[in-house]
This record gives sequence, structure tokens and C-alpha cells, in this order.
Amino acid sequence: MDKRTIDQLDVREKRVLVRVDFNVPLQDGAVTDDTRLKAALPSLRYLIDGRARTMLLSHLGRPKGKVDPELSLRPVAVRLGELLDLDVKFAADCVGPLAEQAASELEPGEVLLLENTRFHEGEKANDPGFAQQLASLAELYVDDAFGSAHRAHASTEGVAHHLPSAAGFLMQEEIENLSRAIHKPDHPYIAILGGAKISDKIGVVRSFLDRADTLLVGGGMANTFLAAMGYDLAESLVEAEVIDTALEIQRVAGEKLALPTDLVVADAFSEDAAHRTVAVDEVPAGWRALDIGPQTVASFTQALDGAKMVVWNGPMGVFEFRKFAEGTRKIAEAVAAVEGVTIIGGGDSAAAVNQAGLADRMTHVSTGGGASLAFLEGKTLPGLAALDDR
Ligand code: ADP
Ligand code: MG
Repeated sequence: MDKRTIDQLDVREKRVLVRVDFNVPLQDGAVTDDTRLKAALPSLRYLIDGRARTMLLSHLGRPKGKVDPELSLRPVAVRLGELLDLDVKFAADCVGPLAEQAASELEPGEVLLLENTRFHEGEKANDPGFAQQLASLAELYVDDAFGSAHRAHASTEGVAHHLPSAAGFLMQEEIENLSRAIHKPDHPYIAILGGAKISDKIGVVRSFLDRADTLLVGGGMANTFLAAMGYDLAESLVEAEVIDTALEIQRVAGEKLALPTDLVVADAFSEDAAHRTVAVDEVPAGWRALDIGPQTVASFTQALDGAKMVVWNGPMGVFEFRKFAEGTRKIAEAVAAVEGVTIIGGGDSAAAVNQAGLADRMTHVSTGGGASLAFLEGKTLPGLAALDDR
């Protein structure tokens, strides 16, 4: 990576402001999924062992620039303390007197979590004054919030302009792995795309068309391509407004693009709907496609055989419903069996791979949904771009 990394900073006794992504689910004042906290531990342990004065910044939810006690990071400090086996201090504001006081009392080796950055309007506005206030707390800045790197906010971008900066270990790992899918990938390179809508992912489709040898498309996204070819998808999710785009992509892609040949259809969009498998030209009136069928699974699995690089974004069906999770699970197994590099991007795709218990068998499962998509599209991530070069 061409950016400076945390291990290239002299952190000893320094005040280090670290942007993490602690946007975790909370229930009744407790963290219900601490995956994102665990993902930050390598950087945090490094700073603690290096006797830094570590100050953590994160957003949580969407408080719209106002204090919302429901979206306080306080419960996160408790859980993080358990994971680090250390008393994580907490300041009830991320700037101003409360933050300054807590920062000034911090000893080497201690960790302080600052309150939700989005309690201030200046965060999302990337207000230079607010960024300056954040920066004034510290001597160094580390960005380990890969999941927020696609947003130019004060704590992810603005603050980096005021302090010597570096990428944390999570950021580094994400960028190094995802870069393999963008720069000089190995071939055969197979991209798998799914999820709900084409319109969310046109940039990713085009990026993969440029880079990959084969594009396997499933999920809701495939419906629009099939509809563009003239199939009647009945009540399936089809985006009429991007049919022309779908046709144009198909023309450019030619043989590269593989679509489902059979579908699992349901008589309602629900967990306990009646369902059956049909060919793509047999979707019954009033029914909708919620998964790819076994014939499609078999042909996609065959296409993955011998792949040197696989990138997957977007589930093959409505995997949240057990009956319609089969296609996604089977494709996850096929990807896990690939001996080449396998990279999973996208929030729901990562959830599906975790749900299938296959995360350990992939080369890399990204922790950032929107950020991994933006990166795979070939976009510059503002949070990364703002960091000092190596
Ligand atoms: P990711 O978060 O991995 O980028 P998306 O958010 O694009 O993935 O897509 C995931 C969503 O797509 C899931 O909620 C899933 O239920 C939905 N989906 C997949 N296939 C279909 C389908 N055939 N019809 C409707 N929704 C679908
Ligand atoms: Mg999603």
C-alpha cells in the first residue's frame, strides 16, 4: 500500500486519535454484535503495547447532528473494555471541554472512547472548524475505519489534513486484499454479482466487465437482465427504468455474462410462501423469483472451477428467508472450495457467508459494505486518499 501504516509511526506516549468503525447494533444498552470491535483490536493492541495515549472516534447510527442518548457510544466502551481486558475510559463529547479534559488526563497505554461524532452537524458536513477541533486533541491520526472510508466526513477525512496520519491494520488489510481484485488480478477471474438491484451496482458491473473473464449474475439483479431479454418475470423485482442499461451491458458483455437458467419462485414474498423451481421462461403469473435454481447453481459452480480470482458481491436470493437461502449457500460453498484468491464484498454478502459458517475459508471477507463496493468500482476512497503517503 502506498499509504503510511500505523507501524511506521512513533506512537510512544503520543496522543493518537484513531477513527474506528464502531457503528454496532445495540439493544437495551448492550452491544449485540461485536464483530466490528474485534476487527479493530490489532491496531488497538499495537497502540496499547506501544504505550500510546489512544483516543477513539466513531459514529453510531444516524443522529442527524443532535445528541440522541439512544445512540451513545457508552455501551461500546464497556464491551471494548471486556475485549481488551482494560478499563476503557469514556468522554461524553468528542470535542470541547469534556473531550479536552479526558484527553489531558489520559496516561500512556490507556484508551479513551469519545462520544458519537454524528452528535455534531460538522461531522457529516466535513466542517473544517469541527475537524480542527477533533485534531486539536491529538498529535497523530490513524484511520482504521475502512467501513466509513467512502465518506468524506470530518472524522474520516477532514481531520487527516491537520495531523500526521497513517492507516490502521484493518484499513491496510482491507485495501491490500481488495486491491488484488482491482490491480493485476490473477486469471481466470470470475466475478459473482447478486443482491437486490442493478441500479445500486451499475458501477460495479462495469468495473467487473473491464476486469473479469466471466460475470455470474444472480439474485434480484438477474431479473432485470432476464426481463431485458424478453422473459416475463411476473411479480419478481424488476427495475423497468434500467432495462435499457441492462441491454447495453449485455451487448458489451456478450459471452462474459452468465444469467440464471432456472429460478426458485414463490407465491408471496414471505418466509412461508409456497415455492417451486421453474425455468426462466416459466415464471407463473402472480409469482416472483426469490432464488436461483439448482441448474443455475450447477453451471455457476462449474464456471468457478479452476478460478484463480473470485470476487463476490450480492446474495443469489432472499437469503434472509431459509427457503430461499439455498442458492446463496451453495454458491458460498463453491467459492469456499476455490483454490485461488476469494474476496467477498458487501454487507449482506458478508452476512450470508458468515451465516453459512464459511468466512474462514475465504481469502478475505470485507468488513465494509458501501466502502468495499466503492473500492471495487474503482473509486477513490476519500478517507484513504487523505492519509499521508508512505
Ligand atoms: P450487499 O449488501 O452484499 O451489497 P445487496 O444489499 O445489494 O447486497 O443485496 C442484498 C439483498 O438483496 C438482500 O436483502 C436480499 O434479500 C435481496 N435479494 C436477493 N435476491 C433477491 C430477489 N430475487 N428478489 C428480491 N430481493 C432479493
Ligand atoms: Mg446490502
